[in-house]
Amino acid sequence: MNNYDAQNIDQRKKLADSMTELLLSKGFSEEEQFYEKENVFSLEVTSRTFLSVFSTIENGLCRPYGRDSIKICALYVSRTGELKGFLKSRRINRSGTIDQIIDRLDQRTDTLFQKAKRIERCSRCGGIKLLSKKNNLYCSELCWKRTDRSENDQRPKVFIGGLVPIPSSSIGKGLTDQEVGQSNPEIARKQG
Ligand SMILES: [Zn+2]
Repeated sequence: MNNYDAQNIDQRKKLADSMTELLLSKGFSEEEQFYEKENVFSLEVTSRTFLSVFSTIENGLCRPYGRDSIKICALYVSRTGELKGFLKSRRINRSGTIDQIIDRLDQRTDTLFQKAKRIERCSRCGGIKLLSKKNNLYCSELCWKRTDRSENDQRPKVFIGGLVPIPSSSIGKGLTDQEVGQSNPEIARKQG
């Protein structure tokens, strides 16, 4: 088989059809709401995360430009509905034969799917964790900044020995019923 020719209209159609067939067979569906001109295919990975393939297909044909490339990225939908990209694969150049290009697309979507599946989640709100510029993982939902603090803080508080208020949920963790309500500054300090 000859190498793919980005100027040949029959080959542009054949590559577009082969890509569409592959992606649909892998469970991707074609997006209708992206603002891109090219066809975008998406596949759900886990809750709120999915892969998107930016195919370079426009009106049933791959774009004619040789240097253009197919892109795959993993996206997260935040609680406010914002899309955040968190992983991307190396660009897939449309070079070599059509079969080779399709193989590359097949393998890279699989690899990125597995990586996206393992993304670390925030133990508090379930949002994905991203790497900051300083290389620290942080929750993409910025949940620690919210004013609606954890439910612990909203529960009625009890007082130990009339000294320090502690959340009622922490009673029973290291404190016996007997100790609660006794005047015991040591315990109060440890718990507070
Ligand atoms: Zn969080």
